[in-house]
Amino acid sequence: MSTPNEYPVFVPSKSLSSRIGRRLVKYRAQRMMPFNYDKSIVSFSFDDCPRSVMENALPVLEDRNWRGTIYAAMGLCGITNHLGLHMSRNDMSAVHEKGHHIDGHTFSHISARSVPLDIFLSDIEKNKAAFAEIGLPIPRTFAYPYGEVSLEAKKALSEIYPLLRGIHSPNGQTALDLNQTASQRLYSGEDFKASLSAVDRLKTSPAWLILFTHDVRESPSEYGCTPSEFKTIIQAVERSGAEVLPVAEALARLQG
Ligand SMILES: [Zn+2]
Repeated sequence: MSTPNEYPVFVPSKSLSSRIGRRLVKYRAQRMMPFNYDKSIVSFSFDDCPRSVMENALPVLEDRNWRGTIYAAMGLCGITNHLGLHMSRNDMSAVHEKGHHIDGHTFSHISARSVPLDIFLSDIEKNKAAFAEIGLPIPRTFAYPYGEVSLEAKKALSEIYPLLRGIHSPNGQTALDLNQTASQRLYSGEDFKASLSAVDRLKTSPAWLILFTHDVRESPSEYGCTPSEFKTIIQAVERSGAEVLPVAEALARLQG
């Protein structure tokens, strides 16, 4: 039986050594990919994944024949936490049937820096097994839960996945580290303004912009946005002329 308290919110350590460690790992074990493409690409990604995404965000993409990437932690299926109710396994299947990509995360939403590497990796395998149980394909890319990265995890996962999505802002840079790929927070408030600016910049500086969010609902958590903010971003992406592709498809396109 799952309870809302089964997977408590992990709060990354704010100690100085942890903060420095997190910052340094970004520059180690890199796999840089320059952006050599004539057109901008936007990928929408959703982490965990709250049912409000299925209700309020995915249909808006589908209306434009666009598809997104869901980094699903299957252990959260049917659970209610600070992000609201999460999709059930049946919801996941339905979303997959509509053409969205369901990609890798940890099963229990543990972070790379909260447990030893073998436990982290076996939790990822458990998530993959849960995908297989409901007929989902093997995940093509992976997102680090909480954006937390250890050097060992970065090295180990780079052998498995062609792209590992992080959560640090791209800050206008067009070359991306495929082992910890920058992505723009699509959250309410200041992050929302930064998302709009990042999308507007695509008109003059072509790039691959990966956006990510969690819940999309009225009164979202601090890790989500409202349906109206989501629609505003969609309209900005339409104005930018960028192609919209799931993460794995964008990567395939860019790697020819
Ligand atoms: Zn997550």
